[in-house]
Amino acid sequence: MTTAEQRREQLVELYKEVRKCERCALHASRTQTVFGAGNANADLMFVGEAPGAQEDLEGIPFVGRAGKLLSELLAENGLARDDVFIANVLKSRPPGNRDPQPDEIAACEPYLFRQVELIEPTVICTLGNFATKLLTGSQTGISRVHGVPQVHQLGQRTVQIFPIYHPAAGLRTPSVKQILRDDFKKLPGLLAEGPPPQPAAPQAAPPATPPEDEDPQPQLFS
Ligand code: URA
Repeated sequence: MTTAEQRREQLVELYKEVRKCERCALHASRTQTVFGAGNANADLMFVGEAPGAQEDLEGIPFVGRAGKLLSELLAENGLARDDVFIANVLKSRPPGNRDPQPDEIAACEPYLFRQVELIEPTVICTLGNFATKLLTGSQTGISRVHGVPQVHQLGQRTVQIFPIYHPAAGLRTPSVKQILRDDFKKLPGLLAEGPPPQPAAPQAAPPATPPEDEDPQPQLFS
């Protein structure tokens, strides 16, 4: 059984690994990685696409206009950013906010899967096509799958994946914003259902002892 503190420490170790990642070409153009932020013990995790310009500068996900809409939708449903964990498919900004490329997704996805393994969320809300297709393992687009939960096993964790439109799409199109708002309202009920039945736990490895290193941006996780 992992305690909240162990979870946070393991996430900080992963953060340090991601911070120096050079697995894809994006490391050359980024200002810094955007690992993800929020509650390391969250039941609800959001997965977006990739950092934008503001996120690249601040090192925090969803701090631009799309992030403001996300915070607004959370608040409307009795949730705060501190209650959830927010991450992205890519941890580095694609130049000019172009779409993530398949090789970049392939290089970065182990980090996302490890985040899921450590946080052990009940619900993962995928924001838009990239996160939805990656985590559902299906090429079916967001317009066909939004607002309906799907049970999936990701590594050792069985979760409800709840695909919704990306907030940036909601900002562009008022009708999409309304759909996003309607889908978001289903989240508290889905969380109240609790986790789906889990696969049998593997033999637990002893927790790694973090090195006596500086604690980078510890405020990212609570
Ligand atoms: N869009 C995303 O998908 N992620 C962010 O962090 C910001 C905007």
